[in-house]
Amino acid sequence: MAVIKDITFEVKKYKYKKPFHIANLITETVENVEVTLKTDSGYTGKGEISPSFRVNAELPRQVYAVENDIKKNLIGLNTRNWRKIFDITDKTILFPGLKAAIQFSVLDALSEELNCGVWEILGGARDHIETDKTVSIGSVKEMVKDAVSIHKEGFNVIKIKVGEDVYKDIEAVYEINRKVKNAKYIVDANMAYRPKEAVYFAKKLYSLGVDIAIFEQPVLSDDVDGLKFVRYSSNFPVCADESARTKYRVLRLIKNDAVDFVNIKLGKSGISDAISIVEICKTNNTGLMIGCYAESSIGINQSVQFACGFGVFKYHDLDSHLILNEKKYRGKFIQKKNQIFVK
Ligand code: MN
Repeated sequence: MAVIKDITFEVKKYKYKKPFHIANLITETVENVEVTLKTDSGYTGKGEISPSFRVNAELPRQVYAVENDIKKNLIGLNTRNWRKIFDITDKTILFPGLKAAIQFSVLDALSEELNCGVWEILGGARDHIETDKTVSIGSVKEMVKDAVSIHKEGFNVIKIKVGEDVYKDIEAVYEINRKVKNAKYIVDANMAYRPKEAVYFAKKLYSLGVDIAIFEQPVLSDDVDGLKFVRYSSNFPVCADESARTKYRVLRLIKNDAVDFVNIKLGKSGISDAISIVEICKTNNTGLMIGCYAESSIGINQSVQFACGFGVFKYHDLDSHLILNEKKYRGKFIQKKNQIFVK
């Protein structure tokens, strides 16, 4: 039998190697919650939530507060009926990151019992992916230095955080492109531009000969018209991140022709909605990338397994474990520079 016997939460604190600076937010430490699920036949599943107050209104203390209620709802259910468990968790867990952690721990315990990987349960499309690495907001000089060193480390896709000063941002991206040759850039404004500013940014860089692979979340999350305006007024593919939290929101973005790409984060949608979002986007030929919050290797493992299972993501932004001070990676994957292989 693969019946859930217990689910426990544990707090884990991590420090960023250097303060992580995105538009209007600097983070130095994170408090994540690890989920351990045990079955009566002795198998264990692990999951992790890195609570995001900024996007999901999640706080660690709110996550701990529901531990007993979640136990009550799920103990006694069979991990082999994981779709049924997903339906229950969709209706009862309000925090999407926690939903992802619980849902993943169910699949992880089942994969132990079946002696395969979660990536194989989800489809087994590929056994490795390539990730980018992120440049925080800083002075132009600092950002160029970081980008050059990330490229030297072996990363071919560089994510650049912008959004606090459009003129400085243009200079930073231009200078990075001048110093780093042969890289692809994902530029993420984390909702901080007004639509016209975003168009100015994109047009200016385009006229300077800079190519941007993905222009992520230029405007506010609910500003669907703004996203569409940026999409149709500039040359770079526009990607929704904060706008794409649930399958319903993604469907609305697509119906409105507002985006070229969707950034799926399990921490925004849980695994259940992420599966739907993949299928919605595939049906519409909308591009897909996968991202993360501040998960350790345990939480990154969830996204690695998901990405390898489906094999549909053009870009993987799964670098939080690389920029946190985590002593030893514990996920079921092997990191080799920019490549991540499932075990
Ligand atoms: Mn983003």
